Amino acid sequence: MRGEAITAGMTTDPVPWRATVLTLYPEMFPGPLGLSLSGDALARGAWDLEARNIRAHGIGRHRSVDDTPAGGGAGMVLRCDVLAAAIDAAAPADDPRPRLLMSPRGRPLTQGRVRALAEGPGLIAVCGRFEGVDERVIAARGLEEVSIGDYVLSGGEMAALVLLDACVRLLPGTMGKMASGEEESFEGGLLEYPHYTRPREWEGRAIPEVLNGGNHGAIARWRRAEAERLTAERRPDLIAARGRES
Ligand code: SAH
Repeated sequence: MRGEAITAGMTTDPVPWRATVLTLYPEMFPGPLGLSLSGDALARGAWDLEARNIRAHGIGRHRSVDDTPAGGGAGMVLRCDVLAAAIDAAAPADDPRPRLLMSPRGRPLTQGRVRALAEGPGLIAVCGRFEGVDERVIAARGLEEVSIGDYVLSGGEMAALVLLDACVRLLPGTMGKMASGEEESFEGGLLEYPHYTRPREWEGRAIPEVLNGGNHGAIARWRRAEAERLTAERRPDLIAARGRES
C-alpha cells in the first residue's frame, strides 16, 4: 500500500501554485519575481505566473479600457464591462482561486492572510490604474480588496508584486535552507529579534555576549525578550492585537 502511494506521488507532478495577474502592463511581470528565490522557484515550476493584458478586452478600434468618472471629477475610471470580460476570460466561474483587487481602500495585507493564500491553490490579482475601477465590478465578480499599506501607488502592479513575493517565499521548498519562517516577524504576533554575524567586533560594536556562548536555552530566552522589547517599542498595536486574540 505504502509503496503504491509513493509511486503515485513520484509519477504525478504536483500542481503548482498558480497566479494570474490582470494588468494594463503585463511587461511588469515577472519583473523582480523572475530573480532570486522566487525566480528559481518559477523556473522549477513550483509556481506559475500568467500576466494578462486587460486591454485585450478593451472597447473598439482603440481598445479603450477607461472612461470619465460619473458625477465628474479628475482622472479616469477602469470600465466594469472591460474588467469583467478580462476576469471571465482569465478564470472560469468554478476557478477556486481567490480574486483580489489591489486597492488602497482594501483590508491591509497581513502575514496571516499571506500564509492562507500561500496554502491555497494560488490567486488572481487585478491591478487598478487611473482613479481606480468602476465599483460595480467588485461585487459582480466577488473581488476582495487588498491594500499593501496606507499610501497611494500609481497602479496595482507593484502591490501585486509585493503580494506575490510574500506568498511565493512561503511555498514548500522556495526558501531553501532558510528557516521555515516560523520565527519571523509577525509570526506569533511579534517582530523578529536582531541578527548578527561575523566579525565578532566591528567599529567598536560587539555581538551580544549571549550569542557567542552556545547556550541554546539562554539564546532562545534572549531572542524572545528582544522580540518582545522591539515589538512593545515599535508596534504596540501588535501587542494589543495579541492580547485580544488569546
Ligand atoms: N483614487 C484611488 C487611488 C487610485 S491609485 C483612491 O484614492 O483610493 C491606482 C491603483 O493603484 C488602484 O486602483 C490600485 O489598484 C493601486 N493601488 C494604489 N495604492 C495601493 C495600495 N496602497 N495597495 C494596493 N493597491 C494600490
